[in-house]
Amino acid sequence: MKKILIVEDEPNIRELVLYNLKTNGYEGIGAEDGIMGITKVHLEKPDLILLDIMLPEKNGYDICRELREEGNNTPIIMITAKTEEVDKVLGLEFGADDYISKPFGIRELMARIKAVLRRYNVTSASGEEETVISVRDLNINVERHEVKVGQKEIDLTLKEFELLKCLMENRGHVFTRDQLLNSVWGIDYAGETRTVDVHIRHLRQKLSSGGKEDEYIETIRGKGYKAK
Ligand code: CA
Repeated sequence: MKKILIVEDEPNIRELVLYNLKTNGYEGIGAEDGIMGITKVHLEKPDLILLDIMLPEKNGYDICRELREEGNNTPIIMITAKTEEVDKVLGLEFGADDYISKPFGIRELMARIKAVLRRYNVTSASGEEETVISVRDLNINVERHEVKVGQKEIDLTLKEFELLKCLMENRGHVFTRDQLLNSVWGIDYAGETRTVDVHIRHLRQKLSSGGKEDEYIETIRGKGYKAK
């Protein structure tokens, strides 16, 4: 059973959503402020988080950013109350996966939850759950080592794959070249940080299509790289 956390300070909405999660076959957990929200993410390890933006203690943007910075990649659907928030959320600078605007219908919410969960987990023909990391058009099947942009399969070397996986699993987190060397090539690897740059360049070439700029890996000047 998939576990879903709703962080929402309005008790009516929280209770209504929790009730409907249950009737739709999910395990629902509620948190009423930002601090509780973060705590419950760590304690309960939900499969998906519904995150209100205006919250006591800590707002939804900060929660989202904090989780991504600590490498937590749980899918997040932001709950927005104002139209001006939508632009921010859609910019994905906070690392959210989707958003829904208040007031929302329960059926719409359930459809969004299903869609986001499906993007993360697909069941293979053999019935095993597989992990798929999806960012816009990019899909990474972790078990099968398959990478697609749209319908197009991308042929990556093992190191390119691991580098991409590392960045995408921690989207929004800035890695230094040394950190990437350590996590992809291993601490014992005696190579230079330039190795990372070369692999990033190849990755970018492979991920971009039709002369378009690669939209998945960002260079952070003087620091390193992050997935966006
Ligand atoms: Ca609120």
